[in-house]
Amino acid sequence: MCDACRSLNLNPEKINGQDRAAYQKISNIYGLSPTETLQVSLCYFHDVELFTLGEKRFMEKLQDLKRDIMYNKSKYTNIRHNRPNQ
Ligand SMILES: [Zn+2]
Repeated sequence: MCDACRSLNLNPEKINGQDRAAYQKISNIYGLSPTETLQVSLCYFHDVELFTLGEKRFMEKLQDLKRDIMYNKSKYTNIRHNRPNQ
């Protein structure tokens, strides 16, 4: 599940269409922790949005996601190991 969609209560299938509903990408977030590289799982739409806006503006736009990352960092560390199926 896309972390951005989850924070916005969006259905990834609705905003991505069926063809891209299965798309999941793990993206590194560098600016929210000075000591760790955090990772988010993103759908196609939000992966493109992160790319086009840049991390800083993406996080400004998605305040709920930003807050969740800052207060639950362990959830966004080593996401590959914690969520092998995504
Ligand atoms: Zn999404």
